[in-house]
Amino acid sequence: MYLILLGAPGAGKGTQAATLVKEFGLAHISTGDLFRENVAKGTELGLLAKQYMDRGALVPDDVTVRMLLERLARPDTAKGVMLDGFPRTIDQAEALAKALQPQGKKIDGVMYIKVPNEALITRLSGRLTCRTCGMVYHVKFSPPKVSGVCDKDGGELFTRPDDTVETAKKRLDVYFAQTSPLIEYYTTRGVLTEINGDQDVDAVGAELVKAVEAIG
Ligand code: ADP
Ligand code: AMP
Ligand code: ZN
Repeated sequence: MYLILLGAPGAGKGTQAATLVKEFGLAHISTGDLFRENVAKGTELGLLAKQYMDRGALVPDDVTVRMLLERLARPDTAKGVMLDGFPRTIDQAEALAKALQPQGKKIDGVMYIKVPNEALITRLSGRLTCRTCGMVYHVKFSPPKVSGVCDKDGGELFTRPDDTVETAKKRLDVYFAQTSPLIEYYTTRGVLTEINGDQDVDAVGAELVKAVEAIG
């Protein structure tokens, strides 16, 4: 099963992917997490990606697609994958379809998590991320048990450099210009399900589970 979580920055993709992948035995692939790992390790890819991420811009398609396809080739993807933050452009979606086709695979479902624009900046600017496991919290909506510390592994919680109000706004502009056309792209291909993301985390999760079950 090849699934995509689509939605604006802050829609709740990472939050939901964390529980959904366990429920369905899928590999969680977040291109944002992969870039951040590379930035943390100081790889060549990380140094390149950082220049775009810090500005709230997209990393070029060729670099992103290459990294994603390498990740897809790893054995933990055998039962299926949940893509989070990829594709972000029509060209990325086309490259993915082209790469899956010779293997007899295709995108089975796209879950579009819809959240009103006003809520997105509040979510992004209050997000806290675990430096160790990448789990996300929110200062108001889902605070950790102990301030500044991850519930799961005691890792340090930090604010992503691109979650400042200024960069978050830029990322939303980029989303509307470059990523939101994918809603129509996947609707036309008959694989898109809209999920109401403007509810609490558990209610969004329940809608997503139903949508994934309906796919098979
Ligand atoms: P994305 O991966 O789509 O960018 P995240 O899953 O990281 O989004 O969520 C962005 C922020 O919003 C995080 O701080 C998260 O805790 C919070 N959040 C996620 N889902 C909800 C929700 N349903 N209600 C309120 N806050 C949420
Ligand atoms: P995310 O963690 O999904 O919010 O992504 C953080 C940043 O990583 C984005 O603002 C982009 O700079 C970069 N990025 C992540 N995924 C992609 C993608 N599919 N295409 C281009 N850039 C990406
Ligand atoms: Zn953690």
